[in-house]
Amino acid sequence: MSLPQPRDDLVELSGYHSPQLDVQVRLNTNESPYPPPPAFLDAWVDAQRAIPLHRYPDRTATDLRRAMGATLGRSPEQVFCANGSNEVLQTVLLTYGGAGRRVAVFEPTYALHSHIARITGTTVVVGDRADDFSVSPTEAGILIAAERPSVVMLCSPNNPTGTTSPRATVEALLSSVIDHGPGLLVVDEAYGEFADWSALELVADDVPLVVVRTYSKVWSLAAVRLGFAVGPAAVVAELEKVVLPYHLSAPTQLAGLTALRFDVEMRSRVETLVAERERLVQELRQLPGLTIYPSGANFVLVRADGDGGALWERLVADGVLIRDFSQWPRLDNCLRITVGTPDEDDRMLAALRGALDESGAHDDTHG
Ligand code: PMP
Repeated sequence: MSLPQPRDDLVELSGYHSPQLDVQVRLNTNESPYPPPPAFLDAWVDAQRAIPLHRYPDRTATDLRRAMGATLGRSPEQVFCANGSNEVLQTVLLTYGGAGRRVAVFEPTYALHSHIARITGTTVVVGDRADDFSVSPTEAGILIAAERPSVVMLCSPNNPTGTTSPRATVEALLSSVIDHGPGLLVVDEAYGEFADWSALELVADDVPLVVVRTYSKVWSLAAVRLGFAVGPAAVVAELEKVVLPYHLSAPTQLAGLTALRFDVEMRSRVETLVAERERLVQELRQLPGLTIYPSGANFVLVRADGDGGALWERLVADGVLIRDFSQWPRLDNCLRITVGTPDEDDRMLAALRGALDESGAHDDTHG
């Protein structure tokens, strides 16, 4: 008996993997190190008792979109919700990508952008980030003019480099998309709350810009799977046509609604994590044999002078899991460290210090 082959263009595709190992300190997937406040859990569980489970959930997530819109100073029609920002991105590419269309990405960046593009049959065109991982508006403009992509993906702060694109870059990309369109600029702000500015302020009904965010990081709800996009009402209406009916479960909708009541607590976590990120960066800078890249996110990318893969393995042996990017194109010897609790970070720093000392990395400034 022979089983059928998947679609020809999917045969070569490998799945998206982020290996999980059973270790004491897990700083590899950019989650929040803190669970949601206990009062959130109580309120969410209580609210779920009233769900008529034999009925489908509210198909248009009206209450959630209204509440989120009010928080963001937007109309509900400008908010699209889905199961994690990955489903938002997939819906955007199902709607605006597809056969015969192109999506532009700036590498190195979040691998799922091109992965989802391929699954949706969209051709990926690649622009390079500069050595400091910034996106050059001039080079991006040349790419957009030449390829006329239907969708331009900009990840800011960028995963895995941490780079935040400034407002001027986003505005320049938007101008290129408008001049050589019609196309859509999608700014993936999965880590936007940790950065010093947001493209949300540029969203308007007559601007081809969609900003994508998630409840997975700041809101400590990675397990719930809730993400959203803010964009022109006409774009949101198209996304609603494409996404599966009743895709967003009633418990998920209630989680989002309930979370908004804990806005103050959640935002104080952002401050805690940003302060901890700055401490981590200072500590990492003291270590020999590493280049530290500036980050506007809840993680920090470092490049080892020596063998980054061996360094990663040494940390795993010490019970510390970070993310190994050392074999990735343009990221030779790079490792990404999620900001954890101060205790987790101290354990990671101790393991890193030990490994670097052992490998004989030395600090030139100290002879
Ligand atoms: N975008 C970026 C840049 C990410 O790093 C992630 C999570 N790794 C996502 C989107 C997806 O997050 P989620 O589906 O949990 O909202």
